[in-house]
Amino acid sequence: MRRIYNAQKALAYISDLKSASKTIGFIPTMGGLHQGHYSLIEQSKNANDVTVSSIFVNPTQFNNTEDLDKYPRTIEADCKGLEEAGCDIVFLPTIDEIYPGGAAQFEVSLDLQGLDAKMEGPHRPGHFAGVVQVVKRLLDIVPATHLYMGQKDYQQFTIIRHMIRELAIKTKLVVCTIIRENDGLAMSSRNRRLTKEHRDDASILFRVLSQAKEWINHKSISEIETKALEYLNIPGFKPAYFEIVNGHTLETIDHINGVSEVVACTAVWAGDVRLIDNMRLIASDNIH
Ligand code: AMP
Repeated sequence: MRRIYNAQKALAYISDLKSASKTIGFIPTMGGLHQGHYSLIEQSKNANDVTVSSIFVNPTQFNNTEDLDKYPRTIEADCKGLEEAGCDIVFLPTIDEIYPGGAAQFEVSLDLQGLDAKMEGPHRPGHFAGVVQVVKRLLDIVPATHLYMGQKDYQQFTIIRHMIRELAIKTKLVVCTIIRENDGLAMSSRNRRLTKEHRDDASILFRVLSQAKEWINHKSISEIETKALEYLNIPGFKPAYFEIVNGHTLETIDHINGVSEVVACTAVWAGDVRLIDNMRLIASDNIH
């Protein structure tokens, strides 16, 4: 696996591959890699000539410096894992490579049409603007044919899908299913911060989402949301929201009639760790 640190070198290398008509799958990450990330590498490998990943902890998407400082940094283990997963190239930029002269010069002018106003948005002001900024910048440096993102971060990929459409970026977004632990907990680099007790109870999110899926055709949305919040309210856990939304607009819905993509999204505090998860309750086809 080739390691590239420099943005210009990365762009030159990827451009050469594109000139040779290679398809390129790109998986941006912030490190702390786990099976969820490696599943994206695998999907890219199955469909592309070349697979590129990046590890960059983007400061502009953190509204809290303590979270930024606490973010796991495990570069060597991550590179080993990427290599084993068959990744061809890893881009490992510094902050200066991504934002030479400062991040302010790389602001993206894009109306998110309220997609950032709900769910994770109010809790993390500026977060999604930071995500848009870094993904746009990364795609400028790694202009891949395909971009792989996880359904785990439902709001994030919805916003990136919007960005790709609005800015007419020539990269196809591929959304990959959520990889879970045996008990159903969605894999996340945050899980390693859970206490043993909280870890033991953390599958409650998956169980409640699965219950919502069973209920969707015979209970009202508001009844499901109320019951779900009740069930999630176990000792040590504090639900932030449980919302059933239109999967395209992220707007809350009060009935499922005519909605082709219905998704339940939740965030729950387990002590001081915020867990997020979601499940498609009604889905027409693959997400795109
Ligand atoms: P992150 O390093 O947390 O920014 O995540 C990088 C990518 O991996 C994002 O597109 C995430 O949605 C995706 N991802 C994270 N956890 C999982 C998971 N459990 N299953 C599938 N994809 C995931």
